[in-house]
Amino acid sequence: MSSIIKIKTIEHLTHDVLRIEAEKPSGLIYHSGQAADVAINKPNWEKEWRSFTFTSLPSDNHIEFTIKTYPSHKGVTNELLSLQAGDELIIGDVYGDIAYKGEGVFIAGGSGITPFLAILRSLEQHKNVGNNKLLFANRKQEDIIHEDEFQALLGSNFVNILSDENIEGYKHGFITADIIKSTSDNNTKFYYLCGPPPMMDAVGKSLSNLGINEENIVKESF
Ligand SMILES: Cc1cc2nc3c(=O)[nH]c(=O)nc-3n(C[C@H](O)[C@H](O)[C@H](O)COP(=O)(O)OP(=O)(O)OC[C@H]3O[C@@H](n4cnc5c(N)ncnc54)[C@H](O)[C@@H]3O)c2cc1C
Repeated sequence: MSSIIKIKTIEHLTHDVLRIEAEKPSGLIYHSGQAADVAINKPNWEKEWRSFTFTSLPSDNHIEFTIKTYPSHKGVTNELLSLQAGDELIIGDVYGDIAYKGEGVFIAGGSGITPFLAILRSLEQHKNVGNNKLLFANRKQEDIIHEDEFQALLGSNFVNILSDENIEGYKHGFITADIIKSTSDNNTKFYYLCGPPPMMDAVGKSLSNLGINEENIVKESF
C-alpha cells in the first residue's frame, strides 16, 4: 500500500544534500534505521521508486529524509531538486535490517550516515547515547552532513575521515583497520556499517582482519 503526502519543507543541508520534511502517512510505522520506497507524485515520476531512510524519529508527527542528490544521473534525486513545499511524494513499503542492537562503533560513508543519524537521534531522545562512537568518512569537510549535531551528540566519540582534504582535527585518507581498532575498546560489541559498495567491501575486510564476527556487524543484507 502507498500513501501520497505533501512536502512541508525542502532545503539544502550541504551543497548536494537535501533535507525534506513531509506529512506522515497515517498508520505509518517504522523503526530508526529503516527506509521506505519513495517516488515523486508527478507525471512520469510516480513509478520511479527509490529507497530513502527515515531520519525523523518514529514518534515525530512528520517524516524527514536526508538525501544526497546526483544531478548527473538525471534521476529521482535530481528531480527532487526542483520540488518545493506543497509538492507531493508517494511513500511505499517500509523495510530495512539496520537497527540498534547495543553500544558500538557506527561506520558511515557519505549518505550512508542516514540510518545512523536516525538511530543516534533516537538514542538521544531516550538519553541513551552512552559510549557509542561514529567514524564518518567523506571526501571533503563541505560534504559532512550534520557535523555540528554529531559533535554535540558524541563529542570526542565523533571521528571524521576526509579522503580529499588534509585538515587539522580531521583524519586523512580512508577508514583503515587501525582507525577502527583505535576507535574501539574492550566494551565495543557491535559494528554498524553503511556506505557506498567499495567502502562496505573495504571496511568489511578490515573488520574480518580484526577478528570481528559477522553476527556483530549490523548492515543491510542486500
Ligand atoms: C535501503 C536504502 C536506503 C537508502 N537511504 C538513503 C538516504 O537516506 N539518503 C540518500 O541520499 N540515499 C539513500 N539511499 C541511496 C538512494 O536510494 C540512491 O542514491 C538513489 O536511489 C539515487 O537515485 P537517482 O534516481 O538520483 O539515481 P540513479 O540513477 O538511480 O542512480 C543510482 C546509482 O546508480 C549509479 N549511477 C547511475 N547513474 C550514474 C552516473 N551517471 N554516474 C555514476 N554513477 C551512476 C550510482 O551508483 C548511483 O548511486 C538508500 C539506498 C538504499 C538501498
